Parts: sequence; C-alpha cells; structure tokens
Amino acid sequence: MKVLVIGSGAREHAIAHALLRGGSVEQVTVAPGNPGMEKDGIKTTRLSESNHAALIDFVKDNGYDWVFVGPEVPLIEGIVDDFQAAGIPAFGPSKAAAQIEGSKDFAKRLMERHGIPTAAYRTFEDLASAKAYVAEHGAPIVIKADGLAAGKGVTVAMDVETADAALEDIFVDHRFGSAGAKVVVEDFLEGQEFSLMSFVNGTDFWPMPISQDHKRAYDGDKGPNTGGMGAYSPVPQIGEDVVRAAVDTIVRPTVEAMAEEGTPFTGILYAGLIATADGPKVIEFNARFGDPETEVVLPRLTSDLGAGIKAILDGGTPDFTWAADGATLGVVLASDGYPTDVVKGAHVPDIPVDDDAHVYYAGVAAGQEPGELVASSGRVLFVEVSAPTIKAAQDKVYGILDGLDVTGMFYRHDIGAKALAASGGEA
Ligand code: AMP
Repeated sequence: MKVLVIGSGAREHAIAHALLRGGSVEQVTVAPGNPGMEKDGIKTTRLSESNHAALIDFVKDNGYDWVFVGPEVPLIEGIVDDFQAAGIPAFGPSKAAAQIEGSKDFAKRLMERHGIPTAAYRTFEDLASAKAYVAEHGAPIVIKADGLAAGKGVTVAMDVETADAALEDIFVDHRFGSAGAKVVVEDFLEGQEFSLMSFVNGTDFWPMPISQDHKRAYDGDKGPNTGGMGAYSPVPQIGEDVVRAAVDTIVRPTVEAMAEEGTPFTGILYAGLIATADGPKVIEFNARFGDPETEVVLPRLTSDLGAGIKAILDGGTPDFTWAADGATLGVVLASDGYPTDVVKGAHVPDIPVDDDAHVYYAGVAAGQEPGELVASSGRVLFVEVSAPTIKAAQDKVYGILDGLDVTGMFYRHDIGAKALAASGGEA
C-alpha cells in the first residue's frame, strides 16, 4: 500500500515510521513533513495541510491507497469530509466529530448529557460574568479557551488573581483570537494524569497502552503549559483497575454518545485523563494521536499499523497487539523561550541512534550547510528509547541528550520521574 500522512511534527514522523515498520505499507509520503524526516529517509511533499484541493489532486495523481491525518487543525477544518467526497479513504474524524477537540464547550456538554465523569464547569462569553463566577467559586480553578490553542489555552489558577488575569488575556487582549470567544471555567482536579488513546471505527474501539505526558515547560512540573515536553509508556503507577474504569466509564460511553448523537467518531480518540480519588475523569479529548504520547506508544505496537487502519477503513475488524513488557520513554528538545518567546535558529546536532533509539523531528528547517538542520519552532525534536524498564529507557535517553551541544535549546531532565518515585526506582 501507498499511504499519504498529513502533518509535519514528531508525531507524524513516528506514524510514518510505524507504518513502514508494519510490512503492508511499502511507501509513505508525509505532507508537508519536514527536512528531518527526509534525513531519516522518509519522503515528503511540500503541500500545506490546509490546501485540501492540492492534497486531493496529489493523492489521485500519484495513486495513494489512503490517507492518515495527523494534526487537529485540518481535521477540524473538515479534511476527512473533503477526501471522502473525492472518493479517497481517509482515517480520521469528520468535521462534526472533530468538534470533540475543536470546542471544549461541545465536549463538556456531551459529557454532561451522557454522565461521563469530568470536572464540574460553566461556560462564559463575557469577562464580567466569568469573573463574577470565579469570585464566588474561589481558587484553585481552571480557565480554558474554548477553541484550539495548541495546548496553551489552559490556565490552572491557584489564586483568583491568576484566574482573573487569564480571563482578561482571553476576553480583553484576545490572546487566542476567536478560539477565546467562549471560555470554560472548571473545577480543579487532583491526581496523576494519563493519556488513553483508542482506534475507533464509529461504534467499536481498540484501546492502546496508556502513557503519561509532561505538560509543563520545566523540571518539577514548573513553568507554563506547553504542547508536551516528554512522555513514557506504560504508566505503572496507574493500576489496571483505573484503566478498566476509564474504558468502561469514559471511552465506551463517549464512542456510544457520539454515534447516538449523529456524529459517529472514526479515527484516534485521545482521552486526557486524571486519576482522582473518585476514579478517572476527563481533562480533555483530542480527535487525533497525542504529541508526544504517540512517539512512545506506537513503538510498542507489535502488529502492522497500516493493516489495522486499512481493516477499519474497509469496515472489517483490525488486529492490534502490543508489547507485553518493556517500556518506552522520550524527551522533547525545545527552542529556548518555548512556549512563550521562542528563539528560533539553533543548530540541531547529529544525534546517535540505534535499533532501540529514534529521533522524531518536528520544528526543523534546512540550515546553511549541506545536511544541516536548524530549529524552526518551539518543539524541535523528540528522542525516544525502548528498553526493558522505564529506568533503563530514561538512562539511555539522557545519556544521548546530555552528550549533545544543545546551545539555544533546552529539555526537561525529569521525564519518567513520577513512575520511578512511585516504584522506588524499580519501574
Ligand atoms: P488541557 O489542554 O485541557 O489538557 O489542559 C492542559 C493541562 O492543564 C492538563 O494536562 C492538566 O495538567 C491541566 N488541567 C486541565 N484541566 C484541569 C483540571 N480541571 N484540574 C487540574 N488540572 C487541569
């Protein structure tokens, strides 16, 4: 099979890698991709993910069998509907179903109607009523821009002043543009976070192993929220019973609710969850693979990714199997200043890899020298290692990163620390 993957990040690099590893996919092209993928031998074509017509022509002219859509923006803009209208199989949710990510208010209302566990909330469209609610409710409290904000539209406010400042940012300074026309204000939840992604065909779903992201920019979960700074899988401190409860009380009812309401979900449903004292609750839904979770979950797939997705596209039953043991851990290398004041242009060093260590490139551009890569946005690349234990994977990742000259860039030094703390270093 020949497959076109849409997107340009480390997630799409990992998806392309997993597709090629499976066996049934002979050729993958990533649009627009990035020069780091090319360095890794993956074909790219410089077509924008928002130019649906050009992508449709490209697929038809070059005989691709189907399309995988990585990022949220084209999904929310209806790229899957456009491919399907052109007779091209595309794996991902329709525009209507992608609202589960595109509007936090849509997702909250869906969960409320179907009794799916999540934080209590109110939605506001003006500053005065939102501030009045915050004053009455008190802190801690969480402020979320309704629309897409690349993981940066959430403020976890530990005091009322911070909550008010976040509301002013959204309603007065219009920091998130139209994505901030509505604001969800919700209760603060406490517990360990984890991500549970599933392949979904509209009515049935196949869960993947869970993983844990690290949203804050700096060590010790300090600093602003980012798109994610590192991840690992499995997550030993989240018990099997919690995962089962998440499947039974969250994933299944959500898939059923979407179908029942006439917006059946096909594609990857990402549930961002928190294990509270009252059981798992939803922090957010995404309508696609998480980034960076995908980069640590897909290496644990032991079946053929392309064959599984093709089975779903054909209305059949896919077969997904996962490594029963071992662990995968990876760390984001980001430009200085990320996520607020990104300084681009750092030289990206060559990174030593082997069969168990991979580099997935994200914000890189071609530099002056032949073959040179330079940082072109916030998250630059992801170093991933598979090993028998989380500790061994962590040691190897940091062995690689600590040996590099990363002038102009930074990374967190504590990815996986929560798993090791919970297990006394044995995980
Ligand atoms: P989101 O973009 O909705 O995933 O939120 C980003 C991050 O903010 C999450 O990963 C959590 O760390 C935090 N967060 C979001 N909602 C809540 C909540 N209700 N209670 C506590 N933390 C939250």
